[in-house]
Amino acid sequence: MIYDEPLYRPPSEAYSLIIQVTIGCSHNKCTFCGMYKSKKFRIRSKSDIFRDMEEMAARYNKVRRIFLADGDALVLKTQDLKDILQKIRELFPYCERVGIYATPGDILRKSPEELKSLKEHSLGIVYLGIESGSDKILKDIDKGADSKDMIKAGRRITDSGIKLSVTLISGLGGKDDWQEHAKESARVINAINPDYLGLLTLLIEPGTRMYDMVKEGTFKLLSTEEVALETQMLIRNLELENCIFRSNHASNYFSLAGTLSHDKGKLLEQLDNVLNNIEDYSGEYFRRL
Ligand code: SF4
Repeated sequence: MIYDEPLYRPPSEAYSLIIQVTIGCSHNKCTFCGMYKSKKFRIRSKSDIFRDMEEMAARYNKVRRIFLADGDALVLKTQDLKDILQKIRELFPYCERVGIYATPGDILRKSPEELKSLKEHSLGIVYLGIESGSDKILKDIDKGADSKDMIKAGRRITDSGIKLSVTLISGLGGKDDWQEHAKESARVINAINPDYLGLLTLLIEPGTRMYDMVKEGTFKLLSTEEVALETQMLIRNLELENCIFRSNHASNYFSLAGTLSHDKGKLLEQLDNVLNNIEDYSGEYFRRL
């Protein structure tokens, strides 16, 4: 199997077999994202996908997790996804979970019944980049969805029984909108109550619109201290039940992990500690991808 690179997957799929069912991202417009800029979006043919799967099944017969790439493989028609999931069942009998990235639009184009049928075909987890709960910021970054869409899409996944993992990006509102970013993101996450919440920190990539805005001075990046204050405001405003929270990605200046809201006090204490020793966390040295 030869991958069409670059290839991305969520950190929690580090040990999964990755099968590309699409190439690129069907949206590919978010101003901060350079992941699929080099790729023209397309859906791979089922015969190519099945050939890759057969080749992998012959080599690795005890695969436990599979991730369907690229950027938003849930864009596939439901029947095509069911055919792929069925083939996974036949070829990888030990597979316990299939994961997939989705845009809010991909989810909302599927009915609740279609999503339930994908769950019955062993789709185990959907990864959704919410990025921000602020309508202003979602518009500014050209996410293609507003906060209502995000809430509706998120709830449609949790109602289907499929696990939902969402991400927010710290710093996405810049210096002008960080408080709105924190409060509105908490509002949207509270309305969804996802199974997993990941908080990344904005990294600016050359070749993206946001990179140009930073160079022009029209978007002002947060300092490490402001990122910590924003994170503190976000966590203070989150009211969740059994949501696994992680902010320990390579993009983060400091590492946080816990279950919300159970560990809220502990996380806020850790953030106080970060703020009291902020010089120890500042500097791009801490962020490696
Ligand atoms: S939807 Fe995701 S992969 Fe696609 S451009 Fe936006 S952030 Fe990048």
